[in-house]
Amino acid sequence: MAQSHLLGLPRIGAKRELKFALEKYWRGEINQSELQQVASVIRQHNWQSAQDKGIDWLTVGDFSFYDQVLDTSILLGVVPERFAEGEADNLLDNYFRIARGSAPEGTQVQPSEMTKWFNTNYHYIVPEFTNDQAFNLNTELLQPQITQAKEFSNQLKIQLIGPVTYLWLGKSRNAHEFDKLKLLPELVTTYQKLLTYFEQQGIEWVQVEEPILALDLEDEWLNAITQAYTELGSEASVKLLLTTYFDHINDKLDRVAELPLDGLHLDVVSGGTEQLLNVANYWPKSKVLSVGIVNGRNVWRNDLGQSLKALEAVKVRYEDNLWISTSCSLLHSPVELNSEQKLDTELKTWLAFAEQKVQEVADLTVGLTRGENVISSALQGSASAVASKQVSSRVHNQEVQDRTNSITDVLRQRQSEFGKRKLAQRKHFKFPQLATTTIGSFPQTDSIRQARRAFKAKEIDEQAYTKAIRTEIQQAIKEQERIGLDVLVHGEAERNDMVEYFGEQLNGFTFTQFGWVQSYGSRCVKPPIIYGDVSRKQAITVEWSKYAQSLSEKKVKGMLTGPTTILAWSFEREDLAAPHIADQIALALRDEVLDLEKNGIDVIQIDEPAFRELLPLRKSEQPQYLEWSVNAFRLSAAGVADTTQIHTHMCYSEFNEIIDSIARLDADVITIESSRSDMELLQTFNDFKYPNEIGPGVYDIHSPRIPTKEEVSELIELAANHVPVDQLWVNPDCGLKTRNWDQVRPALKNLVDAAQEMRQKLTA
Ligand code: GLN
Ligand code: ZN
Repeated sequence: MAQSHLLGLPRIGAKRELKFALEKYWRGEINQSELQQVASVIRQHNWQSAQDKGIDWLTVGDFSFYDQVLDTSILLGVVPERFAEGEADNLLDNYFRIARGSAPEGTQVQPSEMTKWFNTNYHYIVPEFTNDQAFNLNTELLQPQITQAKEFSNQLKIQLIGPVTYLWLGKSRNAHEFDKLKLLPELVTTYQKLLTYFEQQGIEWVQVEEPILALDLEDEWLNAITQAYTELGSEASVKLLLTTYFDHINDKLDRVAELPLDGLHLDVVSGGTEQLLNVANYWPKSKVLSVGIVNGRNVWRNDLGQSLKALEAVKVRYEDNLWISTSCSLLHSPVELNSEQKLDTELKTWLAFAEQKVQEVADLTVGLTRGENVISSALQGSASAVASKQVSSRVHNQEVQDRTNSITDVLRQRQSEFGKRKLAQRKHFKFPQLATTTIGSFPQTDSIRQARRAFKAKEIDEQAYTKAIRTEIQQAIKEQERIGLDVLVHGEAERNDMVEYFGEQLNGFTFTQFGWVQSYGSRCVKPPIIYGDVSRKQAITVEWSKYAQSLSEKKVKGMLTGPTTILAWSFEREDLAAPHIADQIALALRDEVLDLEKNGIDVIQIDEPAFRELLPLRKSEQPQYLEWSVNAFRLSAAGVADTTQIHTHMCYSEFNEIIDSIARLDADVITIESSRSDMELLQTFNDFKYPNEIGPGVYDIHSPRIPTKEEVSELIELAANHVPVDQLWVNPDCGLKTRNWDQVRPALKNLVDAAQEMRQKLTA
């Protein structure tokens, strides 16, 4: 009999109960035992629901108050020195301090860094290792979960980040970088103690996660896997389920199969079901094979019939040792579809959130072992969803498909090459050298939020709303003129979120009420769902931009979100490949760009902050991605005249390896984040002669600090050492919406003054 299990469940709660409890706790409105109570109710619900739906193995350790990597650090005694003192006081409070940075007496301590969890939008707290890092087991935070789980079941499996991935995720925090791998032997010893503790707790299986196996891993790290598991596996009295996800591990199956492990989990959603044909060549049938076949990262219902067919490949060989699961933890899916009351009824039948996905895992397991007739109604439901989606007019729009099919390369090509455009634009705009601009948004003030909220709640009508936003735009323009910026923006007061705002005005997108997914700590995002062919309903930004431009003699940039970013920050359809979806979005944006141009907006920015984020984990898949995402951007931008200036913006400085693709975007100007990393990004331009204009951010907007004119000057000079001055723009790192005007005003003034001073120096 095949068995079912889950890699992990969302812990935020169906109505974000944990988020609200955490924030109350941080504000001092509830005490720690009240917070613990909320956590315990969420866990209780998760286990009860899994058990009721027929899941065989309950997973413990998937709950976290903030982040599972930080939990692991606490479990292993990896506490940065600046927080060591707090530990004696209260472990959970200190845990929050590491994540959030405030100390008991209210003094600020720099929190640990946070970064993206592989290619997801979840962020983890980066472990900090010192050269002489010691590890000490501390199970105090974990113990309540285990105690509670034991009331539910004696078939327990615990989720644990494996030692090698844990090391890989961390950073060395010494003056000199050191080889983290030298910490491995002692770390493995600590994991051995941990496994003994699990055994004493009556836990049978450990889901030991090594997602780095799905990367192109250097030999030393692969050797570390061998070393760690040779030791851990041969002595352990608990069973080890080596767990991988986010891509295939075909290239490492032979190595992994030699290790003394009891089970292996494969993600056959991200990594492909072909793995099931391959795995039998390596993985013995006497060991557990766990197949992650229900997508843990999207919102679509599983095609149960097709999944059962795919599972046939391993069913006979593994028999009782076959486990069925989700591809990865359900942490990355929204929680409960049944909470949704406003979704289109047909569309709703196509969807599955975490609760529904749990049922799918259980159903597949039953169908596989007891026959398809036992789950006939589930199979029928799934099949009719597939069938209705295939023909639904909600999904398919012939006009859009025809238009997408007739895209030619010419549409992705500006009229002239950059050299020629540059001359035309110089003549047309007469911007000064080192022209100053901002990235788009200005502070989200209370009056802005108030106006948006009242309009949404229908307390004010469209006319009143338009008036309120126009007032905000007026103020933003006035401020910018006073400061003396060269190219202005309208300030984005009408936008809640840079993707949601566009999604709401595009066909093929829908929005949920409660489809929240944890992004970091108590922060959740509610990505739109792309379910059908995308087209523009009507002009989106034109009226606002036209109005803003009417207020100033200076140029005001039009402001759009690019195709790859809209795609990356939405749940995408499964029935159309990403390059096609991106092209559909690009065509809608292209119409918007041309409408802006027609209305006299001839500086247009198309933001792509998520460009780097979608880059596939495997090097072999990266060129293909870069090809289609660059193509989609070009399709959105290339329809304009030579004298229209296209800007783009990105928030990552780590694009050394993809700089040639960035150049291929062929934006006339790119603005990028760089001041936070001391302009590290500029190194890239020593070797790569970036052809177009570029504005490396010289004001770190992530901090409330106001940079002095001298600081900005220094950064401009640094930039000028790497990039010819006549290619340079002067601008902040990113949008200013998280700042307030008291910070923004003086900071931008210093930025403008620094640019002016530098200009004078250059002409002197
Ligand atoms: N134009 C957007 C803004 O200024 C860009 C945001 C981003 O890069 N994430 O807010
Ligand atoms: Zn940005």
